[in-house]
Amino acid sequence: MMDNFTKQPRICTECKTQTQWKTISLAYSQDKIEVKISGITAMVCPNCGEEYIPGPQAITLSKAVDEILQIGLMEKIAA
Ligand SMILES: [Zn+2]
Repeated sequence: MMDNFTKQPRICTECKTQTQWKTISLAYSQDKIEVKISGITAMVCPNCGEEYIPGPQAITLSKAVDEILQIGLMEKIAA
């Protein structure tokens, strides 16, 4: 994970500004279920605020979020 900080962050595809490594929080929601994750290292554009999560982390994150949302849906059906 620390390897990310040694890499040069990418250029924002929206406004061509050099992004910066920052720790961000993400929130996903589906129906009434909300998943919040904090402490994510991402490249953030200081100009337009666009956030870029490095590829491997983005894949792991989306899988984890999907699984959590599935659990939420199951609990709702059971209730
Ligand atoms: Zn930008």
